[in-house]
Amino acid sequence: MITSISPFGEDSLLIGTWGHGLWVFHVNKKKFSKPEAFVGHNNYSQIFDLFADDEKNVWIGLHEEGLLRLDPKLNISAHYTPDGGKNVISGISVRRIMQDRSGNIWIGHLTNGINILDKKTNKIRNIVNDYSGKSQISNNDILNFFEDSGGNIWIGTNGGGVNLYLPDKDEFIHLNEKDGLINDVVFSITEDDQGYIWMQTNRSITRLNYYGQTSLPIPQTRNFDIEDGLPHAEFIFSTSMKSEDGKLLFPSSNGIISFYPDSIVKTDTAPKIVITGIEINNKPFSEYDDKISFSPNTKNQALIESITLKHYLNRLSFEFSALDFFKPLNNQFLVKLQGFDDDWASIGSNRTVSYINLPPGNYTLRIKAGNSHNIWNESGITLNVKIKQPWWQTWWAYLFYAILLIGILVLLRYMAIRKERIKSKNRFELLKLEKEIELDKFKLDFFTKITHEIRTPITLITTPLEKLMQKQRKNDKDEEKYFQILKSNSEKLYQLTNEILDLHKIDEGNFTIRKATEDLIPFLKGITDRFSSFAESKNITLGFSCNYESVYWEFDTSAIERIVSNLLSNAIKFTPPNGKVQLSCTLNKEKDKPDVIEIEVSDTGKGIAPKELQDIFKPFYQSDNATSHDISGTGLGLALVKELTYLHHGQIKATSKVGVGSSFKLYFTNHLAQLENTHAPSLVPELEATADVEIPIENDRTNDGNGVCKTRESILIVEDNKDLNEFMLTMLENHYQVTSCYTGKQGYEKALEIIPDLIISDVMMPDMNGVEMCRNLKKEPLTCHVPVILLTALSKEKNQLSGFEAGADDYISKPFNTNILLMKVKNILTLRGNIRMQFAKTFLLDTTEDNRENIDPLVEKTVAFIEKNIDNPELNIQQLQREIGIGRSQLFLKIKNITGLTVSELIQGVRLKKAHAFLGSGLYNVSEVSDMVGFKNISHFSRCFKSKFGYLPSNVKNIKLANDR
Ligand code: ADP
Repeated sequence: MITSISPFGEDSLLIGTWGHGLWVFHVNKKKFSKPEAFVGHNNYSQIFDLFADDEKNVWIGLHEEGLLRLDPKLNISAHYTPDGGKNVISGISVRRIMQDRSGNIWIGHLTNGINILDKKTNKIRNIVNDYSGKSQISNNDILNFFEDSGGNIWIGTNGGGVNLYLPDKDEFIHLNEKDGLINDVVFSITEDDQGYIWMQTNRSITRLNYYGQTSLPIPQTRNFDIEDGLPHAEFIFSTSMKSEDGKLLFPSSNGIISFYPDSIVKTDTAPKIVITGIEINNKPFSEYDDKISFSPNTKNQALIESITLKHYLNRLSFEFSALDFFKPLNNQFLVKLQGFDDDWASIGSNRTVSYINLPPGNYTLRIKAGNSHNIWNESGITLNVKIKQPWWQTWWAYLFYAILLIGILVLLRYMAIRKERIKSKNRFELLKLEKEIELDKFKLDFFTKITHEIRTPITLITTPLEKLMQKQRKNDKDEEKYFQILKSNSEKLYQLTNEILDLHKIDEGNFTIRKATEDLIPFLKGITDRFSSFAESKNITLGFSCNYESVYWEFDTSAIERIVSNLLSNAIKFTPPNGKVQLSCTLNKEKDKPDVIEIEVSDTGKGIAPKELQDIFKPFYQSDNATSHDISGTGLGLALVKELTYLHHGQIKATSKVGVGSSFKLYFTNHLAQLENTHAPSLVPELEATADVEIPIENDRTNDGNGVCKTRESILIVEDNKDLNEFMLTMLENHYQVTSCYTGKQGYEKALEIIPDLIISDVMMPDMNGVEMCRNLKKEPLTCHVPVILLTALSKEKNQLSGFEAGADDYISKPFNTNILLMKVKNILTLRGNIRMQFAKTFLLDTTEDNRENIDPLVEKTVAFIEKNIDNPELNIQQLQREIGIGRSQLFLKIKNITGLTVSELIQGVRLKKAHAFLGSGLYNVSEVSDMVGFKNISHFSRCFKSKFGYLPSNVKNIKLANDR
């Protein structure tokens, strides 16, 4: 089988065979010969290709024997194999050999790609597809080479289409089925006179309109097969060629197909395109006819130019057709949805295209079609598609959002400004309020301080005044009137100081209310009655009413009295003549709830302006209507009313109409068990006596029959205020032996000197204050027993407490009621007297047991000394004084103060008590005992003994026996 023929020399042809090696045909001689190198050389018998180059070197591609180069005399000058020393090529089966116009030899392998032999340098270049994806050639099975008129090398491959080598760029371009070839097995390539490249593939002849372009768009290829008039379309591995007159020759399994390329009839009519179906969301578009709009308004989709859809109708599918009925299945389409696709998409012969989830927008569907002859309708057809924005994304929706946003921002800003304004207003109000409270507190503090100063003089006025009034001459009307004026004004002043102090106390949390269960109705009636003369004087009708005859309630009488009195006094004060003031008390009972007591004071007076109503309960507030000179007030009354009401867990409500009248309503819960004392009771109950107390004071010296003598008790007054000091002195000296001094230090020294029965001392004094003095005196053995009453304007519990800690026995707050002071003095002294009596009884008379507990240490020491020296008849005060180590008179006073006995009475008492014990033991007789207890003579002993115990010493034994029995 001849595989290749090549001209050689002037008149010879080289013939390559499959199985018989190389032959030379001498044209003129018409004779065949076999070159010597091939004679008997079976290895070189299967020749794929051969060719003689421009230097008459012959190149022979062998099956599995590599490549041979023969010199012009046809002797083998080189053998190229994969392991051929310096002549190395990539494979052993060389299928094609070609020399390009630069003289390079192209060697195409059966399976090993290409070698290019540079004839000048003899260097061999390897071009292999290593399947790395970046290879220069598309396939290693090389079928053919062809150099076109432009010097480009076309390489036909078995399965990789055609490869085009551009020598200028040293670049390979691949063309295959994707680019329009019918088949990727490209047997041979040739070029016609017009420059078209013709390729012979497995199943067709394909024309390529290349014209030297480097990129090859698909429409540039045209395939010819049986339908185009080819006798058959089965081609074999061979080389096509062009004859000198331009005829193209394509060897086939059935002979050679030849034609003149310019004889091919051109079908230039591009196919018309029509849209044959539109589907929207998987339904034919005709089903939506009332939901979508399209133009022109026709149901024939072929005529529709534009279509407008709602945003959710966004899954579109188009079907179309190219109106070319010659091989309609070969019609090809290109589509592009402008606005969505960037490039044209080749969909081959598919006639549908679909888009899903198209976002709202304007699109243009463009379709181009090419017929089987690759004649393309370049302008194609267009269909405008508009998918509308959802309503919330339309411009007016955005406008609405913008307006809304601006609105919200403006509103927020406005609210922030408003909030800030309210805040600063509140801050201002708060500041104002704080200032007011501060001012009120300051006022209250100030007045409280002043009040303390005022109260003492008031006491000093009222007490002498009362005395004067008692001694007042009868029938002196003028004097009585003046006294009354003086009295009522000083009482008013006193009342005012009370209110200030009470408010201060409440403010400090020191006010104590003391409750007792009482019938409220007669209590209120009593208060009303007290105001009747005041009301009458102003010609005002004062009424009292209640819905129950008696209402028992646990309340602080003095507080409720002050509340009601204040309200009544205000009502009468602010009601013009002929008006009416009414006090009513209503008990409201409700099931399962505590009773509610409602006390109302109403009047037909001037009334209070609404803006003032909220202020009248503030301390010192007086409305304009209260400024007329005939109405006096302090503005404290209602403040106190409010506080006292709250302390009773009550509520107060004021209503008023200017010119009509006012009403003050108090509400209290009557739940005896529910009400608790608001404050713990103070250490010293305040004795606020409202009525005078008759204080009987004994003046004379008496003997109480127990051998305890009573002299006038001595009182030491320590007070720096001269007036008060003198006042107290005058008040007490009628009943007691009074010494006074003006400072704490003096008081301390005086107390040690005179050992008084009682000390009344001011607290605030210049050098040593009362508390300090008290503490110091309580440390002294001589004065530790002396009771101290502290006198002060400071009534705070704290102050009282420190006084008590210092050992004070009682407290009296200034201004004090003289009667109370006298009463307290009397009580304390009586208590002391009782203690003394107790001493006489338990210590000196009770012979059964020796009870020395609670005895003053100094007295105990004295008694112990007496007992120690009991048999000494000369034992006297000097000895005792020396032993105890204090002054004689102090010892005397101390003993007297505690026991009520003189020192000698004490010595004798101890002697007799001891004597009683000795006699009771039955061990001694009377005369022995008389000696043992230091009596000089027995008759004196017996007399004294009888006078103390009521029986003679000789009877002690009998009496004891009788008692024991
Ligand atoms: P004052 O001691 O000045 O009366 P109050 O605290 O008792 O102080 O009262 C405060 C103010 O309330 C009074 O100045 C008066 O203007 C007004 N007020 C109180 N009660 C009445 C009332 N019944 N009618 C009219 N105004 C009243």
